[in-house]
Amino acid sequence: MARQQSSPVKVHLKNTPSILNLTWSDGEKTEISGVSLRRFCACSGCRSRQVIGTEIITDSGEIQNIKLMGSTGLQIVFADGHDRGVFPWAYIYAIANGGALDFLAS
Ligand SMILES: [Zn+2]
Repeated sequence: MARQQSSPVKVHLKNTPSILNLTWSDGEKTEISGVSLRRFCACSGCRSRQVIGTEIITDSGEIQNIKLMGSTGLQIVFADGHDRGVFPWAYIYAIANGGALDFLAS
């Protein structure tokens, strides 16, 4: 599902297990687990693996920290040390709605 996505009005990280809750400006809410975010990590190495069809399965989706990257998206620091992924808002929305691979392919 492609959708233009502006910045959310609220970002709430709950931990153990890590769940990210976003509230968009139109009032829609998105809930996404750290495991899903880790699986679809936005860094270039993980993206290229996803495009060629190699899936990363990990149970370690614990999010240690999140950092707002202006209006672009969110940098997510996972507890396993993986911290290179900046997740654009539209990508987070796509992951939560089952469209991550379509987003990467577009
Ligand atoms: Zn990655």
